[in-house]
Amino acid sequence: SRVLRIGLIPGDGIGREVIPAGRRILEALPSSLGLKFEFSDLHAGFETFEKTGAALPDRTVEVLRNECDGALFGAVSSPTKAVKGYSSPIVALRKKLDLYANVRPVKTVRTAAKPIDMVIVRENTEDLYVKEERTIERPDSEGGKYAEAIKRISERASSRIATMAGEIALRRQKIRDSSSSSSSIHSHPLVTITHKSNVLSQTDGLFRTASRAALSAPRFASALTIEEQIVDSMVYKLFRQPEAYDVIVAPNLYGDILSDGAAALVGSLGLVPSANVGEGFAIGEPCHGSAPDIEGKGIANPIATLRSTALMLEFLNEEDAAAKIYAAIDANLEEGKLLTPDLGGKATTEEVVQDILKKL
Ligand code: NAD
Ligand code: MN
Repeated sequence: SRVLRIGLIPGDGIGREVIPAGRRILEALPSSLGLKFEFSDLHAGFETFEKTGAALPDRTVEVLRNECDGALFGAVSSPTKAVKGYSSPIVALRKKLDLYANVRPVKTVRTAAKPIDMVIVRENTEDLYVKEERTIERPDSEGGKYAEAIKRISERASSRIATMAGEIALRRQKIRDSSSSSSSIHSHPLVTITHKSNVLSQTDGLFRTASRAALSAPRFASALTIEEQIVDSMVYKLFRQPEAYDVIVAPNLYGDILSDGAAALVGSLGLVPSANVGEGFAIGEPCHGSAPDIEGKGIANPIATLRSTALMLEFLNEEDAAAKIYAAIDANLEEGKLLTPDLGGKATTEEVVQDILKKL
């Protein structure tokens, strides 16, 4: 049997209420899968910062790097005002572990009025998020001060993220082919490259050509349809016709915006998972934040975390285990009896977790 070592980083607020659910579903997987799990409890977040002076303690990074195969990250609170010395631990983790892809599936269940089944693959290391900004002071007579930022796009990062998008599209098609075809809304795999190269011909232009080149590799070209969308018209189509999209690949900033926008299509942030993926390492992370308005009430929806747990397993090449978790979640949602308040139900986090564990 295979042993997977998983770091658990609950973070702040409802992160502490939902991450234990991820651990429990891993422990409840049938033994026939031949998987064993070892867990490390790790710290990060604003409370950790207030206690220790570091939002991301060195030990957390070292244990993840040296002792873990993957991790689950809950959510962290950001201070409303800038606090000296504080910066987001998840952004730092992406950098330190070179988690170059942010993958966000957005999917409704079979019984939903509008079927949606897409995944947004966002480049995670560059673009405007290299945070090389500066402010230039000028006298008012010369127009006053201004600020500028570097937008960096490399061929390597663009090619690598497009390759991952292609791999994901192939894997999704494989899963569709092996399950009952009627449950899928896509008959043919599609990868949509998103950019604004009509205006930003060098930066987004490079993203476009490097993505195109990567996706013209024979194993992709023979199996996938590749199309392009300018990002603003992409937003329009995404909201008008979300069912048309399968895999979307985008540079960091557009990917950030598209993936939060797409999450709005499925009703609750409490449903939407993500994974931060690098070579041989993946961190599952629900898309929501620490939700101070419901913290401590025991009603946080655990599904985003459970789906993130499954997504982490997919990137650790445990697709069968992931499929079991997705199926148990879908069964809970399709039945619609035990739902948390964000989905219009009355159930607690604990009741939903127990129902999904039972369905597993
Ligand atoms: P949020 O995601 O925490 O909450 C937005 C709304 O969605 C709230 O009404 C909340 O109750 C609801 N919600 C979120 N997750 C839910 C769940 N699992 N079940 C039921 N309802 C859920 O976003 P926010 O309120 O804008 O931010 C709160 C804090 O979280 C801030 O400090 C913010 O900086 C931080 N934040 C962190 C992350 C992250 O860690 N990745 C992401 C977004 C926000
Ligand atoms: Mn975002």
